[in-house]
Amino acid sequence: MKSKIAPSNANYIYFDYHSTTPVDKRVAELMLYYMTTAFGNASSTDHAYGDEAKKAVLQASVNVAKLVGASSKEVIFTSGATESINLVIQGSIPIDNTAKIRPRIAVLPVEHRAVLDTCHTLAKKNLAEVIDLRIDSKGRLDLDSLDKVCASGISLLCVMAANNEIGNIYPIQEVGRIAKKYNISFLCDASQAVGKIPINFEEWGITYLAISAHKLYGPKGSGALVVRKGYQLNPILFGGGHQKGLRSGTLNVPGIVGLGEACRLRLLEMEEDEKAIADLRDKLQSLLLDKIPGLVINGDVSNRLSGNLHISIPDVPNTAIIARVRQKLAISTGAACSSGVEAPSHVLQAMNLSTKIIEGALRIGIGKFTNIEEIEQAAEILSLAVQQTRQVMYS
Ligand code: PLP
Repeated sequence: MKSKIAPSNANYIYFDYHSTTPVDKRVAELMLYYMTTAFGNASSTDHAYGDEAKKAVLQASVNVAKLVGASSKEVIFTSGATESINLVIQGSIPIDNTAKIRPRIAVLPVEHRAVLDTCHTLAKKNLAEVIDLRIDSKGRLDLDSLDKVCASGISLLCVMAANNEIGNIYPIQEVGRIAKKYNISFLCDASQAVGKIPINFEEWGITYLAISAHKLYGPKGSGALVVRKGYQLNPILFGGGHQKGLRSGTLNVPGIVGLGEACRLRLLEMEEDEKAIADLRDKLQSLLLDKIPGLVINGDVSNRLSGNLHISIPDVPNTAIIARVRQKLAISTGAACSSGVEAPSHVLQAMNLSTKIIEGALRIGIGKFTNIEEIEQAAEILSLAVQQTRQVMYS
């Protein structure tokens, strides 16, 4: 299904798939059915509307579990990865902490803000200690130092499966093996990875896996947390005791169905789609390298998401490029920003890159609806914007 997506302007090119993806029409159609026809409350056990909703939720948990190699009983539905991550990190803090033990949490410094800000908020309240893991200038994790940190005694390890800026894919199997060796709970934020690369929750020693529907052609405001059997978390939301008491609140049946259907389709189509996406990304990369002298590619180019291209043009500020292309091309300077405060990327800073590289950084994210014409047009738009900016700045 190749269709050009254009919310308001037929010629607009959307290259910000890390931020969010369009909902697959097949997913949206199924969701519509669960909003307008089978609209029951999955907890209404007294009638057929409730039964149908409950059945749909169970089917969704099977679809999610299949995609990530988990058991459907291990799937908890949430409002998205941010909530899933908060549930793990906050839910790991002992409620009755009379012994005043501060859990030690080790994090990859390029984790999403959902991980870092949750940890740092707990640290500010003196409820946890945060330890940064070591990475290199390509954002790669140093596994020897990870082993040493784990040996020093920590209670929770947070390593994402793939990064939302530079697209690096992390060695989750290896990380899981080390976590298992030291009996440490392992939270893997797989928001950017699920539906793009294979994940095996059961075999890879992951304790908690965070999933977001809107990164894999599903709806926003829907996600899941996979919790390994036998592991306990304290709830952060209280109410009707839904989902084994771990996440109270009426289940968002259309959102859950949307996540489940998106996962089912990814399992069927991921391999082929991702190959085609990687070819398009490689084409764009070579066109940009040809057309823009001085262009640098950031991150681990031998191990990144197929839809990711993270570049820097060190002598041209990214804001100048965005200003020139924003009416035609959706790309970004980094992670989607909700605070409205422009801050340099913490990911690129953690990689110790120069100010020029950070200030000239652009994140390009393509996906399954991207086509070759868009790749060629985007290369033209970007190279012209760089040329014009350089003319203004340096002539
Ligand atoms: N983690 C990563 C790596 C992300 O890219 C995102 C989304 O931007 C999140 C977590 C948060 O996901 P959600 O929007 O579902 O809360």
